[in-house]
Amino acid sequence: MEIESHFASFVRVLGQVAVIVYAFSWVIRTVERGVLKSVAVGLLFGVGGILSMSDPIRWMPGVFQDGRSVLLVLTPIYGGPVGTVVAVIMMALFRFAAGGIGAVGGVVGIMAVATTGYVLTLLPRQWIGTGWKRSALFGLATGASLIVLAFLPSPLAHQLLVSATLPAMATNFLGVLLLSDLLEREWYRIGIQRVLENEASVDPLTRLPNRRVLQREGDRCSKEAGTRRIPFSIIMLDIDHFKKINDSYGHSFGDTVLARVADIIRQTVRKTDIAARYGGEEIVVLLPNTDTRAAAIVAEKIRKDIEATVLTFDNNAINVTVSIGVACSDEPATDFKHVLEAADKALYRAKAGGRNRVEKANAA
Ligand code: GH3
Ligand code: MG
Ligand code: MG
Repeated sequence: MEIESHFASFVRVLGQVAVIVYAFSWVIRTVERGVLKSVAVGLLFGVGGILSMSDPIRWMPGVFQDGRSVLLVLTPIYGGPVGTVVAVIMMALFRFAAGGIGAVGGVVGIMAVATTGYVLTLLPRQWIGTGWKRSALFGLATGASLIVLAFLPSPLAHQLLVSATLPAMATNFLGVLLLSDLLEREWYRIGIQRVLENEASVDPLTRLPNRRVLQREGDRCSKEAGTRRIPFSIIMLDIDHFKKINDSYGHSFGDTVLARVADIIRQTVRKTDIAARYGGEEIVVLLPNTDTRAAAIVAEKIRKDIEATVLTFDNNAINVTVSIGVACSDEPATDFKHVLEAADKALYRAKAGGRNRVEKANAA
């Protein structure tokens, strides 16, 4: 009976761990970096701690244990100070509301474990790394929860110290080893995935999305234009006499010019527009839900901003200009490829017409 109930507890704890790891993976995949992510991790660990406190392991009559310390000590690693405060508030309120003789000590214990975990995150990374050494250190830090004993009547504190300290410390220690290994694997896996996705979609020189991203978004806009009659526009831009810039000032300065032009475009377009590096010194902006008139205004602003920018090379002031072709999906086709071709034709006319100008596709 005893062994059966311990086994059932063990399976329950494993279930809790699995849910926490899956939820953690989902949070760090979906919530962008920053404070929001810290709060989300804090909420997750807070909920995990509360669930664990409502379903503790019963070692022996009157002696319980739950996973709050394991979760709390690891919160600062993934949730930072903000996430830790969130988790502490949630668990402390729950523990206090649960009442009983250990309520105050429980709350103090929650704070002590979280603070100890946080202090450990301040240690230099090269000292503790991210592997088993760090896990062991955080595992030992759960010992801070023993402070609860100081808030209990002496005979009870003494009895607990003798009977429960060792199993509690050992399970917390092993719990931290297990959970931190699983969380770290997820953290690393998702981090690598992000880097690879970024490398596969962003041009390293201009930091603009590449042609593959443009094609994907263009196809999406085409579909919307075809089915819901939502127009999209394309701005196709080409730097004027770029070969001359390269020839006169060197390829590396040419790279600087290209990156600078990309910066100006990025600053001008909306968050929902996609500015992508299309070819060597050609940049295409896809403007969802935009007609030709609005797109031409954006194009003219980009052209003027670039013209007004002065770059310096060896104390020489250099002005760069661009030619731009603009096309919209409502003239005459909605297919991305056709709109792109129409913008390309308009760009050709801008070049032929003397450069440093914007031409609209429907002006043919
Ligand atoms: P036009 O006004 O007709 O556009 O003339 P252009 O000289 O800009 O056009 P052309 O197509 O003759 O030359 C484009 C040049 O852009 C040639 C190529 O070496 C250069 N280029 C393409 N990609 C890069 C790059 O990443 N960095 C640098 N520095 N140059 C590049
Ligand atoms: Mg050019
Ligand atoms: Mg070109």
